[in-house]
Order: sequence, then C-alpha cells, then structure tokens
Amino acid sequence: MSAFLTRKLVSSVISLSKYSQAGLLSVRNLNLLEYQSKELLKDCGVSIQNFTIIDDIKKADATLDKFRVKEYVIKAQVLAGGRGKGWFDNGFKGGVHLTKDPKAVVDIVKNMLGHRLITKQTAKDGILVQKVMIAESVNIKRETYVCILMDRSHNGPVLIASPAGGMDIEAVAEKNPEAIKTIPLDIYYGVDDDVAKEVADFLGFKEEEVNKKAIYELKNLWKLFVDIDALQIEINPFVETDDKQVIAVDAKISFDDNAQFRQRDIFALEDVSEKDPREVDASKHNLNYISMDGNIGCLVNGAGLAMATMDIIKMNGGEPANFLDVGGGVTEEQVFEAFRIVAEDPKAKAIFVNIFGGIVNCATIAKGMVAAAKTLEIKKPVLVRLQGTNMIEARKILQESGLPFTMEGDLDEAARKVVAAIKT
Ligand code: GDP
Ligand code: MG
Repeated sequence: MSAFLTRKLVSSVISLSKYSQAGLLSVRNLNLLEYQSKELLKDCGVSIQNFTIIDDIKKADATLDKFRVKEYVIKAQVLAGGRGKGWFDNGFKGGVHLTKDPKAVVDIVKNMLGHRLITKQTAKDGILVQKVMIAESVNIKRETYVCILMDRSHNGPVLIASPAGGMDIEAVAEKNPEAIKTIPLDIYYGVDDDVAKEVADFLGFKEEEVNKKAIYELKNLWKLFVDIDALQIEINPFVETDDKQVIAVDAKISFDDNAQFRQRDIFALEDVSEKDPREVDASKHNLNYISMDGNIGCLVNGAGLAMATMDIIKMNGGEPANFLDVGGGVTEEQVFEAFRIVAEDPKAKAIFVNIFGGIVNCATIAKGMVAAAKTLEIKKPVLVRLQGTNMIEARKILQESGLPFTMEGDLDEAARKVVAAIKT
C-alpha cells in the first residue's frame, strides 16, 4: 500500500494497533546488515574497523590468511541487534566474540554459520546466519550511543545521544533517562559545528584531539543520513579507543521506502533470503503482499479497504490467508501478477477480490483477473466485489469470461459467501 495513504490513515484513525500488528499498516522499510551499513559509513568518511566477510566455512582459512590482525572480533550478521547477548540454536553463546587466535576464529565462525541466532530482537526461532564479519578489534575505552532519526513527534530529524552506550542502552533509557539527550535538528542545518560540539561534549569526548574527532564523525553521520535518505542511523557503540580514535563499532541503518527510486544501488543490497518469497515476488511488481494465518486470499486496493476487508471476513467467521494491495494506478499486468500471487498461496482455499474503483479502473482489474485465471487454471472459488469506476464493464468482462467467478455487490454478503465457500 502506498506509504502516503498509510500515513494519512495512521494520523486519522484512533486505534490501529490490531491492524499494525497484522502487518496491514506496516511500511516495509529497508534494513541492511551491519557490514553493508558500515560500507556506507566508510564511504561517507565515518571511521569503522577494517573487516572481511566469511560466508562459506571452506573459504575461512584462505580469507583469514589475507586478514591478519592482533585481535579479531567475530560478529554474526543478522538483521537484528542484541547479538552480543544472543545465543545460537546449537547452544553456542554470543553473536559477538573476541579472540587473538586465528584458529579460534575458524571454530567460532563454524558455530555461527548455518545456525540460527536468537536475540531479544528476533523471533523465538532466531535468524539464520549466512555471513560472519571478522573485524580488527579495537581497545575500547568508552562506549557511547548516538542515533539520528526521523521523529514524527518532532516533525523532523532528531539526534539522540547518551554517554552510557553499549549493550544496555535499553536499560539506561528505562532507569536513567537523564543520561539520554534528544536534540531536534533543523533539516537544513542538521548536525552543524555547534550541534556536533554540544553532542561531543555531552558524550564525554573530553580531550581536545578526541573531541575534534568526535565532531568530525558526527558531522559525517549527518551527511550520510541526508545522502542516503535514511530514516535512522544508529551507532551503538560509538566508541573512544585507548589510542584516541573515535569509531562506529556497530551500525544499524534503515531507509525511507519512498526514496527507493533515487537510492536504487542501496535497495539492490537488500537481503531477501529471510523474507516471505511471496512478499519478495509482489514487491518485484510494485505490489504489497502481507501473509496471514487464515485461509481466504484477499486482493484489495488501499489500506482502508484492507482493514475493512479483514474486519468483515472475521465478523463472518473467516480468517484472511493474505492481503495483496494493488494500490491506485495499477496496470492489467500487475493485476495478473497480483491475482497469481494470491491464488498460488497454498493457505488460500478461496479468493476474495474486494475492489473499490476510484482511481482504480474496475475493468483493468477484471481483465487482469481473467487473464490470470485462464493462464493458471485456477480452481479455487473466487468471490468478486467490484464497485465504482467502470464496474458495469468490469462485471461484463468477468461474466463473459466463462470462468467461475461469483459476483456480489454487497460487502457483507460477499464476505459471508466467501467464508461459506470454504466450509462447503
Ligand atoms: P550488538 O550486541 O548486536 O549490539 O553488537 P555490537 O557490535 O554492538 O557488539 C556488542 C558489544 O561487543 C559492544 O558493545 C562492545 O562492548 C563489544 N565489541 C564489539 N566490537 C568490539 C571490538 O572491536 N573490541 C572490543 N573490545 N569489544 C567489542
Ligand atoms: Mg550494538
């Protein structure tokens, strides 16, 4: 669904938690793995540790031969934080390890690659680790926290900083909130010299040389935030080393989906291996797919109608298997793909097409559906409710197709029939 529409709805409807929990209102913001985020940081002049990546245990020795350092830090790459305190499905503890012994590195990597890492931020069964970062360890003197993010309550970007960074930042926020400072930023000036100095001082970068470095790093972080259309850049920890370096040791960046058209290189980095393949399939065709637990596949247009459809199905005793939102300016080809994706979901025992034609032309929907149903020889019952723009022509197209579409103009009746179609 369009992010614009989603936002409009979020601001106008009072209690949306059940919808957002169901994923109907979620905007799929791109997240990158730590190593990918760090490459972006490096390009923008933010200091990071040297690193290499191992994605195949057979290549571990050869990779390490080329990467000799005094001390190694080994980090599982997953799209979740809290790795240091996490554990693996094989019982191995910790997604972040330090060692000076290259042989031990290989053993640690063995315990990580191909196993699932569970942290406070992952689902119960964790995330499969397919890449491990080996970085040159730094001697940390102090760990601080810094994050730049777009914040709705401030109508713009803010910088959040804390001198008490590291793995327990959540506890700091809860027990010691005065150790966290939020600074609203002017989108035009961002982190300028004055803001950077204020933050560097608050973070406790005292010595002049270190303070200057922190200012430089903070300004580069802002530059990156703007350059890549980030919604959030979180550095935790942002450290001071015992040799007076200021380094981003961990990084989490998320991006604004609306900027995808001008950040193509970054969006191409997305790791889709952990995503629902149908969601990936849909996004390739600029469609939004959300998987649910029920057995009625739903093809709708718009977030509002998705919510109403979910409610009406539930009120009639059914459960949606999925939602595919075709949005506004949809083409016949996209409808073909949308119908295919919904229909191919093995969970969907019946299909409910609920379209309100405003910008959407119902005839376009009908043509795409007919083409898909013919090509794919769909046998599942299909209940169609089309209202609005060009609905008479659309109904004609569906009727004349000779395909087993059941048409119904009334929403409640349509929902009742689709639920009944599964029970018979
Ligand atoms: P997270 O647990 O997913 O947030 O992973 P981090 O990359 O933030 O690492 C967790 C913790 O490991 C950090 O807060 C540091 O205390 C420690 N750590 C990470 N990298 C290094 C390093 O290069 N040297 C040292 N000494 N500690 C590190
Ligand atoms: Mg961290």
